[in-house]
Amino acid sequence: MKRVALISVHTSPLAQPGTGDAGGMNVYVWQTALKLAERGIEVEIFTRATSSTDEPSVSAADGVLVRNVVAGPFEGLDKRDLPTQLCAFAAGVLRVEAMYPPGHYDLVHSHYWLSGQVGWLARDRWGVPLVHTAHTLAAVKNASLADGDEAEPALRQVGEQQVVDEADRLVANTEAEAAQLISIHHADPGRVDVATPGADLDTYHPGSRASARAELGLAPDETVLTFVGRIQPLKAPDVLIRAAAPVIDAARGTGRPVRVLIVGGPSGTGLARPTSLIDLAGELGIADAVTFLPPQRPERLAQVYRASDLVVVPSYSESFGLVAIEAQASGVPVLAADVGGLGVAVSDGVTGMLVAGHRIDDWTAALRTALSDPERLARMGVAAATHAQKFSWDHTADQLLESYHRALMSFDIAGGARADRPTPVPTAAQTARTTRRWG
Ligand code: UDP
Repeated sequence: MKRVALISVHTSPLAQPGTGDAGGMNVYVWQTALKLAERGIEVEIFTRATSSTDEPSVSAADGVLVRNVVAGPFEGLDKRDLPTQLCAFAAGVLRVEAMYPPGHYDLVHSHYWLSGQVGWLARDRWGVPLVHTAHTLAAVKNASLADGDEAEPALRQVGEQQVVDEADRLVANTEAEAAQLISIHHADPGRVDVATPGADLDTYHPGSRASARAELGLAPDETVLTFVGRIQPLKAPDVLIRAAAPVIDAARGTGRPVRVLIVGGPSGTGLARPTSLIDLAGELGIADAVTFLPPQRPERLAQVYRASDLVVVPSYSESFGLVAIEAQASGVPVLAADVGGLGVAVSDGVTGMLVAGHRIDDWTAALRTALSDPERLARMGVAAATHAQKFSWDHTADQLLESYHRALMSFDIAGGARADRPTPVPTAAQTARTTRRWG
C-alpha cells in the first residue's frame, strides 16, 4: 500500500482542537496520519477550506499532505449546513485524483458520516476500498442528550446508514461501539474492526506538578479539579462547576482551597453563551475559585494536566474521550461519567472513578470521595500513567493497517467490489492498481 486518502470534510487536522467543531477527531486524524506516514505510507488528508488564505495543499509533516478543498463559503458555514456542500467537496476531491495517473490512491478512509458520503463516491470512481470511522452515531448521541443540546436530525441517521451499507470496512473505537454499529445499523459483524484511540505519549507524560502550576500561574497549595474540552452541554462542564460548589465552599479557610479549572472554547450551542459558565460560577458564589483558560496547544495542555489533582470528564455521551487518556498519561487520575468509551479509558477504582448518571449530588459525593484520601489519589495517578501506556497512536495505527489490509484483500478477491454488491466493470485504475499490488 503506497498512498491513502483520508477524508475529513468538516474539520481540519490542522485546526486547534478544543473549540468549535475541532476536537478529538482532529487529533485522531492527525496522529494516525503521522503514524501511517512513519510506516512509509503517503497520506493525503482532504478537508474543507475555511479561509481564503488556505493553500490548496499543505505539506504538514513528512509524508502527510493536507488538501484544502474549496466548497462553499470559507467562514460561517454551520456544520448542519455542510450537507449542502458535499457535492462541491466531492467534485474537488475527484478533480485532485484526476490530475494523477490511475491508481494514485490505494484506499479511502473517511472520518464522520459526512466524509463517508464523499468516500463512498470516491471509492466507486477510483476502484479502491472504503474504510469508514463514524466517530459518533446520531442514534447513540440522541439517546443521551443533555439539557440544551440539539437532537441530531433524522437525516443524519439515514446518511450514516448509507455509509455503513456502502463501506467495505467499518472501524469502531471500542467493542461497544462495534456492537452498536451491528445492533443499530445492522452492520455485517465480519466487516467491523476495532481500533482503539490513543494519546501522544511523548507529549503527555508525568511531570512536576509544582513547575506546571508555576508555569500556568496557579497557586501551589490548592486542589485543582480540571475540565478540558469543547464547552457544550454534551460535555457537561456545568456539572463539574455545580458539583464542585459545595466542595469549594467546605474547603474555604482551610490550608488547601479547591479550584476548578475549565480549559476549552465554545462549541455548538456553547451552553447558550460563551460566558454562561462564568455566570453559573457567579450564581453559585464560587466565581473566585473557577479559572477559565482558552484552548491550549498540546505541550501546554500537558502542563494543565500535570498541574491538576483530578481531571473530570462528566460528558453525557463520549465515543472514546481522548482527554481521559491524555490526563492519565500525564499521571493524573480521572473522574469520568460511565458512558461510551470512558468505561474503557478509565479503570474504575484503579486509575480513577466512574460515576453513573449526572445527578449533581452523586458528582459532589464522588469528588468528596476522591479528595478524601490524597494518598489513594496519588496511587491512582501512578496507576493511570501505567494504564495509559496501553493507548498509543502506534497501536491505533497497527489496528488501522490490519483493517486496511482486510479491506484490500476482500476488495481484490471480489474483483473490485464487495461480494454482496453487483460487480462494476473494472475501471482502468482498478486494473492497474490490482496488477501493481498483487502482480
Ligand atoms: N484539546 C486541545 N486543547 C484544548 C482542549 C482540548 O488540544 O485546550 C484536545 C485534547 O487534547 C483532545 C481533544 O481536544 O485530544 C478532545 O478530544 P475528546 O475525545 O476528549 O473529545 P471530543 O472533542 O472528540 O468530543
